[in-house]
Amino acid sequence: MRIDLHTHTLVSDGTDTPTQLVRKAAEEGLDAIGLTDHDTFDGLREAKLAAEQAGIGVLAGMEFSTEKDGKSVHLLAYGCDPHDEDLLDELARVRVGRSDRVPTMVARLTELGMPITVQDVLEHASGTSLGRPHIADAMVAKGYVPHRDEAFRLWLHEGSPAYVDRYSTELTQAIALVHRANGVAVLAHPWGRGRRDDLPEAYLAELVHEHGLEGIEVDHPDHDDVTRTDLRTVADRLGLLVTGSSDHHGLGKRNNPLGAGLTHPDVYAELVRRITAQGGHA
Ligand code: AMP
Ligand code: FE
Ligand code: FE
Ligand code: ZN
Repeated sequence: MRIDLHTHTLVSDGTDTPTQLVRKAAEEGLDAIGLTDHDTFDGLREAKLAAEQAGIGVLAGMEFSTEKDGKSVHLLAYGCDPHDEDLLDELARVRVGRSDRVPTMVARLTELGMPITVQDVLEHASGTSLGRPHIADAMVAKGYVPHRDEAFRLWLHEGSPAYVDRYSTELTQAIALVHRANGVAVLAHPWGRGRRDDLPEAYLAELVHEHGLEGIEVDHPDHDDVTRTDLRTVADRLGLLVTGSSDHHGLGKRNNPLGAGLTHPDVYAELVRRITAQGGHA
């Protein structure tokens, strides 16, 4: 079985509709995918319908924008009740933070010699969660950069000239919200992009023992072989589930084709078992 538990659609910053994504996954021989758009559940219903037609599984997920000590940490939430009010309120707050910074970022880019408006950005966003990838797409359309990656490398990454911080939920609070919505919490790409020192094993242990973190993503394109081996050892020691995924964003990320990382079928079954046992919505 081939299972890819972290994917995006244009409900956030991917480029496929949920239906297109599910069809593509089926065509490429995947048996199940996790749909994990940023800070929203809005693509799940369509994806589930498409999955029935395509004959593959869709695990209901969401990638929660959280922070630890002011640094961004992504948390994958699987099986949450998509109608949980506390969780929905908090996600709405995060999404307001996403859109609120766009005017400042476009003003910075304009000052930096790349005139661009909020309207230009909105033309590249058709979903629920607005983000830097949509600013990047508008920059590509204006001919300022050849693709999203270059927009991030030069102008949009944390700490770069046009970057503006936004509100994210504190990590342990986010885990608690996921659990209260009967979901399972898995840290996304914990040691990707130089983040290893921000989330050392001792802190991961605290997340497991004091906050009930259930899993970590290990086989992810942002993790090199050494990182994967080390994370697997940490997961063994802490009793964490190990997931694998592509973090597919359609055409939006070039290094993340569907199936680029896979989750073991036993782990998938265990995730579904836990979600079902605690009354979640797998
Ligand atoms: P935002 O959600 O607005 O903070 O933007 C973060 C999103 O941008 C992530 O979910 C990725 O899809 C994408 N992203 C972040 N860093 C990079 C990067 N260095 N290169 C390409 N895409 C990136
Ligand atoms: Fe993204
Ligand atoms: Fe992420
Ligand atoms: Zn993602």
